[in-house]
Amino acid sequence: IFGPSRKNSKGLNMNIISESEPFFAALDKFKDATWNAGPLVNGETLAGETKEVVSPFDTTQVVGKIAFANNQAVEQALASAKAAFPNWCNTPVEVRASALQKLADLLEENREELIVLCTREAGKSIQDGIDEVREAVDFCRYYAIQAKKMMAKPELLPGPTGELNELFLQGRGIFVCISPWNFPLAIFIGQVAAALAAGNTVVAKPAEQTSIVGYRATQLAHEAGIPKEVLQFLPGTGATVGAAITADERIGGVCFTGSTGTAKLINRTLAMREGAIIPLIAETGGQNAMVVDSTSQPEQVVHDIIDSSFTSAGQRCSALRVLFLQEDIADRVLDVMQGAMEELSIGDPGLVKTDVGPVIDATAKANLNAHIDHIKQVGTLLNQLELPAGTENGHFVAPTAVEIDSIKVLDKEHFGPILHVIRYKASELDKVIDEINSTGFGLTLGIHSRNEGHALDLASRVNVGNVYINRNQIGAVVGVQPFGGQGLSGTGPKAGGPHYLTRFVTEKTRTNNI
Ligand code: GLU
Repeated sequence: IFGPSRKNSKGLNMNIISESEPFFAALDKFKDATWNAGPLVNGETLAGETKEVVSPFDTTQVVGKIAFANNQAVEQALASAKAAFPNWCNTPVEVRASALQKLADLLEENREELIVLCTREAGKSIQDGIDEVREAVDFCRYYAIQAKKMMAKPELLPGPTGELNELFLQGRGIFVCISPWNFPLAIFIGQVAAALAAGNTVVAKPAEQTSIVGYRATQLAHEAGIPKEVLQFLPGTGATVGAAITADERIGGVCFTGSTGTAKLINRTLAMREGAIIPLIAETGGQNAMVVDSTSQPEQVVHDIIDSSFTSAGQRCSALRVLFLQEDIADRVLDVMQGAMEELSIGDPGLVKTDVGPVIDATAKANLNAHIDHIKQVGTLLNQLELPAGTENGHFVAPTAVEIDSIKVLDKEHFGPILHVIRYKASELDKVIDEINSTGFGLTLGIHSRNEGHALDLASRVNVGNVYINRNQIGAVVGVQPFGGQGLSGTGPKAGGPHYLTRFVTEKTRTNNI
């Protein structure tokens, strides 16, 4: 019942010419393509209020059109998902799992289109796009195998002679999956695949900024054999579609990735339900720290700081926000870091050489720039890169590093390429730990130290979900670093981990004394 052993997909190494040449040729085919997307209700693309989608790196470039779901589409999707539930829930888990395996194959077959969409619609770099497809594929395969392990047979439980005790896991009903724009493919697919594998029907709402990627992913899921009534796709805003589907009496669970504020709002909405108590799986933000002590190696530290802070323009909930440097190594690290920042290439995410692309939209840009202006007054500017020519039409924010006195000057998570640096003395380590824990967030923690005892002690005392020692703190791999935090960072269980599906199912025991 454990099925074949699973390997993560290997992605693509852009340094191997025989792999990269055909890849770039295939990407090229989509560089001027446009897409027309909309709600997919029972597999049919519906009309609705339509919005033009432009690229965040150049708002004069049109990616396509998206029609948002209207009330009628929402109603139809929920009614059909509800009606489809009993059948899907009773479909053998092997059948559900093989549709997800097929979806993984189709994602790989359509890799180039999906990567171009990630760069053009979400402004992600090509490497980020490659990683998105890889993670989406891994989620499908991982949850397919997990579901078979957990659900193929009931668990036999002990009991008195003559009595048969069994524990069954089954889907909860309609799962609402609400995904973010920063992983428009991987997290969209991850939520949906988990909910489907566990036997739920799904109403998926993508982030309004990145609906086209979700639309294509849903079409591929249908093509892979997920029944069209079982997976419904409703693009729209949180205030309209999100609010309607989370408040609906017919749903059985919600899986959400996004801001802490929205997670709380959904929780409040679910609490108002008359007919049931509904679980929420929320993965939210972080005020992620890295602690670097004086035994560590500045060159390696800097590599990992740059990677953790500025990859994806800092738009990862795992990203490094607050760097604690032990005072006797701080000048050296900052010196190398400033040089390394100057090497970052900012610009068109469709070019391989680009390290830092745009942020998602004008609102994000304005908020991040306002924070930079404010924090420069509060602290001391270490470095702020110049935005190069050619970025004027996009939502670019200059990668910035600022030294501050305390994490307490940060009012909230700032989701972009801004790094805050705090110096500490060896005698102040307890204060550092208290400061990090005082934020209430608990997602990722980076530690750089050659003193293993010290690193492990720190790892055990900071309340986070993912600790990374002597490496970067982004890019959790499915089944390798199950991802998710605690406190303000989310409810768990961790995505890509062995317990994730447990929250998507309901448990039933059957005691048979015939
Ligand atoms: N899993 C991603 C990482 O480890 C972050 C996910 C997110 O930003 O929501 O970088």
